[in-house]
Amino acid sequence: MKEILKVEKLCKNFNKEKILKDISFSLNEGETLCIIGPSGSGKSTLLRCINNLESIDSGTVIIDDDYLINNGKYSDKKTIQNINMNTTMIFQEFNLFPHMSVKENVTFAQEKVLKRSKKEAEEIAIQMLRKIGLEEKKDFYPCNLSGGQKQRVAIARCLAMNSKLLCMDEPTSALDPELVGEVLKVIKELSNENKTMVIITHEIAFAKEIADRIIFMDNGRIIESGKDVIENPKNARTKEFLKRFNYSKGDEVMKLEDIEPKEVFKYFKEISDIPRNSSNEEKIRNYIIDFANKRSLKYYTDQYYNIIVTKEADEEYKEYDTLAFQAHLDMVCEKTNNSDHDFNNDPIKLIIDGDYIKANNTTLGADNGAGVSIMLALLDSNIKAPKIECIFTVQEETTMIGVKEIDVNKITAKRIISLDCGKEGKMVISSAHCMEWYGKVDIVYEEDVDLDDYYIYRLEYSNFKGGHSGGNIADKTRGNPIKLGIEVLSKISNVKIIDISSSGKVNVIPREFKIVFAVDKNNFNIEDIEEILTQQREKFSEESIVFEKLKNIKNTIKIMNENTSKRVINFIYNFKNGALSFDENNNQILSANLGAVNIIDEYIRIDYSLRSNNNNLKEDYLKSLRKQIKDNKIDIIWSQELYGFEPNYESSLVNNVSKLYERITGNKMEKIITQGVLEGGFFKNRMETVDYIAIGPNTYDVHSPQEKLSIPSMKKTWEFVKEIVKLNFNENKQ
Ligand code: ADP
Ligand code: MG
Repeated sequence: MKEILKVEKLCKNFNKEKILKDISFSLNEGETLCIIGPSGSGKSTLLRCINNLESIDSGTVIIDDDYLINNGKYSDKKTIQNINMNTTMIFQEFNLFPHMSVKENVTFAQEKVLKRSKKEAEEIAIQMLRKIGLEEKKDFYPCNLSGGQKQRVAIARCLAMNSKLLCMDEPTSALDPELVGEVLKVIKELSNENKTMVIITHEIAFAKEIADRIIFMDNGRIIESGKDVIENPKNARTKEFLKRFNYSKGDEVMKLEDIEPKEVFKYFKEISDIPRNSSNEEKIRNYIIDFANKRSLKYYTDQYYNIIVTKEADEEYKEYDTLAFQAHLDMVCEKTNNSDHDFNNDPIKLIIDGDYIKANNTTLGADNGAGVSIMLALLDSNIKAPKIECIFTVQEETTMIGVKEIDVNKITAKRIISLDCGKEGKMVISSAHCMEWYGKVDIVYEEDVDLDDYYIYRLEYSNFKGGHSGGNIADKTRGNPIKLGIEVLSKISNVKIIDISSSGKVNVIPREFKIVFAVDKNNFNIEDIEEILTQQREKFSEESIVFEKLKNIKNTIKIMNENTSKRVINFIYNFKNGALSFDENNNQILSANLGAVNIIDEYIRIDYSLRSNNNNLKEDYLKSLRKQIKDNKIDIIWSQELYGFEPNYESSLVNNVSKLYERITGNKMEKIITQGVLEGGFFKNRMETVDYIAIGPNTYDVHSPQEKLSIPSMKKTWEFVKEIVKLNFNENKQ
């Protein structure tokens, strides 16, 4: 196997201080080397030396048979230029040119350094952008990309240079946690394709997965290297370093004594031992009663197992307003196929994975166990504070019966802080009012049908992306196959529906739609719809759109009459669907989802839902919807209404809490207007003057077995909560 990189006895000093001491290692073609080690151990300096971004004091570096430096003596300029072309480096901070489009960023060095023609450079750029999944962003500027996308572009730029050695210095550490995955995925693909790479990373699990070789550095030296440094560290320093990642077998039970904030994780562990799926909250409620009794705290509880625990004000906070915190006790119970976990009896097994806590192939319950444990820690602490009311609700994940039925007269606070936001540094200030209903159109079939008068067609959409009707609906690449199909039919006169069906339900964007219909042989021109079908196929090239004439039709087939068909088609065609309104900050504040359409016995059922964060917009929408309903004679059946709350930018709670956050962290607190449904809407609906926000530590992939909770963000949130209770809202009233 060919050696691409060889380093021998490399030494580097900064101001006479020895930073790299006798570093020797080599790397074969196609191998992935990961360098791990504590901050300041010299990892970046080593990579910078190899990339000729830092001068080397002594030693030898050979890259693809060329000497960069031989025993302390640098090669001639030409050789070094050649080496420079054969090594590329990706940095933490992406370093894209802000004034160039994505495509220009990728072509620039190709033209300048490799002297490729513009045409060739562009072809290669597109190829590389496709590889990292960002071809459609080629004309964007970096400022319009997420951090993860920027880093992927930086990778594409390096790949386009076709260099022998690709170096990366902590490529994901400047990214928000939710963006790390997409970049790691690209790197993993490169590793699978046997790109020769040196990667400095703190993603230990990732390093273990992709590395052919791992080097552990500490204090300017290679302490240990090999394939299984992470699984089987030999050196005491390596062991010590890896301890905080807890990798030995990947399923070690959480050691609470090691994790900050201990006072919160103590409760997180305790509640994880108590099964608490929705509708099964009695045990966890009893645990909280016991908790309150032991501390002589007053509580109120009800038949639904809601519980409110009160902690009286400390003397110096007597004059302050009472403050409430809120979290839900229940959790979604999901597990992987191979898990034999019993959610009714087994404790959730906690695993530390680097900076995260996750469960063993099950949901973790950080949604909203993170909030529950912060509240318990607060009730347990001796932090001086005003009167605190901690509200624990039930069945948030299913019926919301807890918040619908809790006796709000037992809450004296005028301000409630929910701990169910799931995004540290952000604050939910509005949730959606959600209305779900379905329309019914009774079917009248055509009598005395002569099938010879008709052509019969099938139009079928499948493999669409679908998604959540609140969170994903603004994404136009998803498309709504029902709307698309009906758009085609609206171009044909005298359509008669034979069969109509879709996937999905009211709060999900449909992924499939099928309609079989008859058209009048003498009055049908296929050209009327060819153009629109072509447009749709171009726009949704990865999805499937099938349009075909059916033969051999059974003569028992039933055809709906023109009136029935027309009403369905008109109604769906005119139904305003998708993300419909945005506020000045580009938050989506009104959206509607046509979720499903199906034949149920003797009628066609059309499911749809509306989400709104603004009452005026909602009323306007309903007015136009009612007109459609009336015009097309649709029967409406309400299924449910979930309450939301509008943003209140004057709120003392919103303003004081966000100002405090900025004061503590130096960062702005982002205000979120969500189209999701939160318990806050129900509190607001039932307690007119209450002020409500939601905050909380970072959680990821909630409701799935990949769910995880960020340990550092739990610490930040806890520190923040301890400061929030000291705010004097009374004094700072606006
Ligand atoms: P790592 O990447 O492992 O965190 P670095 O290679 O960045 O470590 O740093 C190793 C040591 O070298 C640190 O003590 C750092 O302060 C020092 N160092 C890095 N760059 C310079 C520089 N340009 N001038 C002086 N000291 C430096
Ligand atoms: Mg570094």
